Amino acid sequence: NIDKGVILYLEDISVSFDGFKAINNLNLYIREGELRCIIGPNGAGKTTMMDIITGKTRPDSGSAWFGQNINLLEMDEPAISKAGIGRKFQKPTVFEQLSVWHNLELCMAAPKTVFTTLKARLNGEQRDQINKVLTLIGLQDQRFLNAGALSHGQKQWLEIGMLLMQKPRLLLVDEPVAGMTHQEMDRTGELLTSLAGEHSIVLVEHDMDFVRSIARHVTVLHQGSVLAEGTMDQVQSNPKVVEVYLGE
Ligand code: ADP
Repeated sequence: NIDKGVILYLEDISVSFDGFKAINNLNLYIREGELRCIIGPNGAGKTTMMDIITGKTRPDSGSAWFGQNINLLEMDEPAISKAGIGRKFQKPTVFEQLSVWHNLELCMAAPKTVFTTLKARLNGEQRDQINKVLTLIGLQDQRFLNAGALSHGQKQWLEIGMLLMQKPRLLLVDEPVAGMTHQEMDRTGELLTSLAGEHSIVLVEHDMDFVRSIARHVTVLHQGSVLAEGTMDQVQSNPKVVEVYLGE
């Protein structure tokens, strides 16, 4: 009985490591097209939650659905990625020796091996897809540069572009603005905001100013479950949230 507009539905998820409850009856619903920020002190369970969504960690109990009928708990990591969930880790992992264009080309849906992909002639539609992503991530002018020559921020955008090549419906993004300049942060905010709508995005972020600038809906995790949800103003004035952050 999952609401039609819900893309991700975690219900009563728990997982323990050596008897320690890292996730404790977690409930989370992400709506189609939403940009949701997840915040919370260190150890709150943010990474473990992302690991459960991508199939890297299996919960001890609960259920996890993607869309109306994809049971994430019955799938392994490659199948979940193929079903349309893309994850970007904090550190960019681009192919430094390859051009920006080739980095995107390699990540195109239905990947073959590196060599057959780079040798194959792209059709018009495939070129259009790469050009569209290059424009979105603002790297059209850098497309023939080696990825190794990009700035830290540009590498992060390229990696988001590499995920987009696989046409994910849900993007999980881990602290994208760590180490970025203010200008790069603004540009990243614009990029994520422009991707929401067509994509659903779950963003784990520590930078509160950045969260405030982009998110309408924030979830605060604490001790493996949801402590508060709402706008940034609502959660920041919640006494339970204040207490947790002061204690950090
Ligand atoms: P966050 O990302 O919010 O900082 P984590 O999900 O990384 O939190 O961690 C939640 C808790 O679970 C922490 O106390 C952490 O030490 C513990 N934890 C996470 N992964 C493991 C693991 N593989 N083995 C043991 N403990 C773990």
